[in-house]
Amino acid sequence: MNQVNFDTLCLSRELLHALRDMGFEQPSPIQAETIPLLMENKDVIGQAQTGTGKTAAFAIPIIETICSENRQVQAMVLCPTRELAIQVADEFRKLIQYNKAISVVSIYGGQPIDRQFQALKKKPQIIIGTPGRMLDHLRRGTIKLAAVKTVVLDEADEMLDMGFREDIELILNQTPESRQTVLFSATMPKAILELTQKYQQNPQWVKVMPLEQKIPLIEQQYFEVSQKAKLGVLTHLIDLHQLKLALIFCNTKRQVDNLVDKLETEGYPVGGLHGGMSQSKRDKMMARFRKGAVHLLIATDVAARGIDVQDVQAVFNYDLPENTDRYIHRIGRTGRAGKSGLAFTFVSSGQIRQFSAIQKSQENALHLQSAPGAKIADLKSIDTAREYRRKPKGAMKKGRKKFNTSRKKLQHA
Ligand code: AMP
Repeated sequence: MNQVNFDTLCLSRELLHALRDMGFEQPSPIQAETIPLLMENKDVIGQAQTGTGKTAAFAIPIIETICSENRQVQAMVLCPTRELAIQVADEFRKLIQYNKAISVVSIYGGQPIDRQFQALKKKPQIIIGTPGRMLDHLRRGTIKLAAVKTVVLDEADEMLDMGFREDIELILNQTPESRQTVLFSATMPKAILELTQKYQQNPQWVKVMPLEQKIPLIEQQYFEVSQKAKLGVLTHLIDLHQLKLALIFCNTKRQVDNLVDKLETEGYPVGGLHGGMSQSKRDKMMARFRKGAVHLLIATDVAARGIDVQDVQAVFNYDLPENTDRYIHRIGRTGRAGKSGLAFTFVSSGQIRQFSAIQKSQENALHLQSAPGAKIADLKSIDTAREYRRKPKGAMKKGRKKFNTSRKKLQHA
């Protein structure tokens, strides 16, 4: 295959100029495959996640096919979270910086609706939004989708996980049947396939491995540790590595709140981020984390979507992620822009099967470490736990010896 570059994609002068300013020298694999298909007005299913350049992959063809004299909404992008909607809109704005006749508006829950009415008065041709607020505007008649040519469902799996399916369908039903429908999703569960069958015409599949899958700069370690001992191991690692900016993932809002309380009690500068918090609280927390006022941000997967903070030193999977995609997504928050990063995963003995899929996906990159700071009684490593059952006394001695050796090593480190 010939090398694809932006010049061979027949892009406008204005867009090429913007791409140069943005420092994009060559299309990423998803862009090289997707842009020509979308320019031919094909429907596309893109299996790709953040970090692959997927936003520009759909934004470039949208911009190139907008009729700038027409002030109706011609393209709509639906995103699961406000953070992602802002990020996508920012990328669009950079790409249209030399195209003054095209405008983009982002709309999402949590922002005063009056401000959105004002923005919509500018008659943007491109709207980026979250499903709930989009539907709200459609019901009020402040957004009309009759002239939409392209719809993008970005991070469609997340939107379905968040219960937006009905909203998405209501929105799609207000767009012309002749529209081009583009769907991006990191995973392809049955519900996504149903959506594509219902709303796409002869879609073309494009699949790229996330760049983060390689993750050469992230040192990945895992610890076999009981639920009870997790907090001790966590604080030990924070102190040992003198972490000033780290993300800690929990699976539920409650676990986030619990851990925030516990770490606060121990005097750590922590903050929580989850979907149960009001939007303004979430924004304030993100701003404090970016500034470094909060050293440790404890978050759920959904709330952390789209977080792009430079210099995150470490990611903790305090709770084991549900699947490999989530694992890759979580640890990809560190080791960005050529910097190195640390990823620590806590695994309990009941989670071996779930964890082995993650471990397999990372080939030989995930290393077992002895858990620092855990009391010996809590240090039931998966292997030693098996041995306890077989010959308890000997195994206990072995476990204690292993722990003491690693503690000595740590003390000398
Ligand atoms: P995304 O996967 O869309 O979230 O993009 C991840 C990051 O890669 C963003 O900061 C983009 O601006 C950047 N990016 C996207 N495409 C390219 C490209 N062709 N060359 C360099 N950087 C890119």
